[in-house]
Amino acid sequence: MQGLMMQQPLLVSALLEHAERHHGEREIVSRRVEGDLHRYSYRDLARRSRQLAAALQALGVGQGECVGTLAWNGHRHLELYYAVSGSGAVLHTLNPRLHTDQLAYILQHADDRVLCFDLSFLAIVEALAPVLGGRRLVAMCDRASMPPSVLELLCFEELVDAQPDGFEWPRLDEHAASSLCYTSGTTGHPKGVLYSHRSTVLHSLAAALPDALNLSARDALLPVVPMFHVNAWGLPYAACMVGAKLVLPGPALDGKSLYTLIESEGVTLSAGVPTVWQGLLSHARDIGAGFSAMRRTVIGGAACPAAMLEAFEATHGVQVLHAWGMTELSPVGAVCSFKPRQYSLPTLEQRALQLKQGRSPFGIDMKIVDADGRELPWNAKAAGELMVRGHWVANGYFRAEGSSPIVDGWFPTGDIATIDADGFMQITDRSKDVIKSGGEWISSIEIESIASLHPGVASAVCIAARHPKWDERPLLLVVRKSGAELGEGELLDFIASRVARWWTPDAVRFVESVPLGATGKVLKAQLREQYRDALMQG
Ligand code: AMP
Repeated sequence: MQGLMMQQPLLVSALLEHAERHHGEREIVSRRVEGDLHRYSYRDLARRSRQLAAALQALGVGQGECVGTLAWNGHRHLELYYAVSGSGAVLHTLNPRLHTDQLAYILQHADDRVLCFDLSFLAIVEALAPVLGGRRLVAMCDRASMPPSVLELLCFEELVDAQPDGFEWPRLDEHAASSLCYTSGTTGHPKGVLYSHRSTVLHSLAAALPDALNLSARDALLPVVPMFHVNAWGLPYAACMVGAKLVLPGPALDGKSLYTLIESEGVTLSAGVPTVWQGLLSHARDIGAGFSAMRRTVIGGAACPAAMLEAFEATHGVQVLHAWGMTELSPVGAVCSFKPRQYSLPTLEQRALQLKQGRSPFGIDMKIVDADGRELPWNAKAAGELMVRGHWVANGYFRAEGSSPIVDGWFPTGDIATIDADGFMQITDRSKDVIKSGGEWISSIEIESIASLHPGVASAVCIAARHPKWDERPLLLVVRKSGAELGEGELLDFIASRVARWWTPDAVRFVESVPLGATGKVLKAQLREQYRDALMQG
C-alpha cells in the first residue's frame, strides 16, 4: 500500500522560494570586487535570480546545459547559484586557482554555454580565448565598470535589468543535475562531480542539523570556503533553508579583512580551511582583540592543527567544529560533534577528540577496509581505507561512463582512517597521490612527469611534506643522471615555467636512490614518513 502524502520534488528553487516567503527581510552582505560592501535581502535575491534565469533563457541556455562561473563569494554568484540550477541548467563553478590548461580542459569537458566571471578573472578568461568558441561571456559588474577587452563581453547587470520579474521556476525532476564541480584530488585529469537537486537539498537538510553545523535563523553565517569549492560546502543552500544572515567575503580573504567583516556584521558562525583561519588568528593576536559574536567555526578541507583548535577554543571561546568531506560527497561526510557523555570529559580529552574528523550524520554511512576489502573493526586502532555511501555521494564521474569508482556499492575515498567505538573517524594518512596545499590540490604525478623531462633527472618523486602555513607543500626527491650537474634552482625554474606558480615544489632533495616495493612501485608512504618534517624547520 502506498502512503498518502504529497509528492513534491526536492528542488534548489524551493530553497529560494522558502527564503523569500519566510525570511524575505533577512540580510545578505557581500564584499564586492568593486571594493564596496553590498547589502540586500533574500527577497531581493529571489527577484534578481528570477530575472537572471529569464536572461539566461534569452541567451539560449537550455535545460541540462552548463553555465560556468569564475567568481568569488558574492551576491551575483549567489544569484547564479539559484538562477542557473533553478531554471534547469547546470551551475558549473570553475576554480580560478587552476592552471589555464586545466581550466581549458574543464571548460571544454563540461561544454559550458555561458561563462560568467568576476572582473578579477578577466585575464584568465582572455587567456582561455583559444578554447572559448561560441560561448557567451558575461562580466559580473555594471555598465560603468565594464573593462575594455579584446573579447566580446556581455554585462551582468544589464542582462538582469533587461528582464521583468515574471519567471516561474519549472517543476523539474528532483534527480535532474543541478550543479557540477571538478575535483583535482584524483590522478589524471580533473573529474566532474554532478550533483542533483535531490542530493543538494538532502545534503542541506543534514548539514544544518544541530549535531552537524547547527545552522539556524539566528545565525549570521560567513562562508569563507569559496563558492567554487564544492558549492561552498553547500552553505549557500543551507542558509536559504534556515533563513540565516549570509555574509560573503568576496576577494578579501586576508586576516584583517575577515576580522573586520566578522565584527562589523556580527558573524556567529564561519566556515573555511585551516589556512584562512591562520591569517585571521594572527591578525586577532596582533591587535589583541577577540570575537564579539562569533561562537562557532567549521574547519575542514584539511586536518585542523592542534594549535588552531586551542587558539579558537581557549583564547577566543569559539567552538571548533572539525569536519571532513570531499567534492564527491557534496561535501559533508563527518562532523566532530560530541555525544552527551563527552560534554563532561576533561578539557584535554575533549581537545583530543576534536582533532578527529568526526562522525557521520544521517545520510552518510562509512566503513574502513583492509587491502583485501575486508571491513576493519571500530576500535580506534585498525586503520584502513575509508569507504562511504549515502544520499549525496557521487555514483560516478561526469562523462566518464564505463569507469565507475564504486566498489560493492561504496565510494573509496583514498583516505586512510581509524574509527572508534563511538563512530568517530580519524584520518591518519592518504593513499591518493595528491598534495593538499592551503585547501587546493597539487598533482604529485604531474610534477614528477614534468621534472622527469629535465635532461639531468634520472627519476623524480614528489611527496607531501608538512608545512606550517599551507598544511602541506610539495617536496621533490630527485636522483640525478650520472654525471649531471643539476642544481635545485635550475630544476625549480624548469618546473615553474610549466605549472601554476603555487604548484612548484618548495624544495628539492637530491638522493642516491628511492625505495621500491616488490612490484617496482616507489614506496611513497615510507618517503612521506622520512621527509614529513623536511619543510618545518625555519
Ligand atoms: P576536496 O574534494 O577538495 O574537498 O578534498 C577532499 C579531501 O580533503 C579528503 O578526501 C581528505 O583527503 C581531505 N580532507 C578534507 N577534510 C579533511 C579533514 N578535516 N582532515 C583531513 N583531511 C581532510
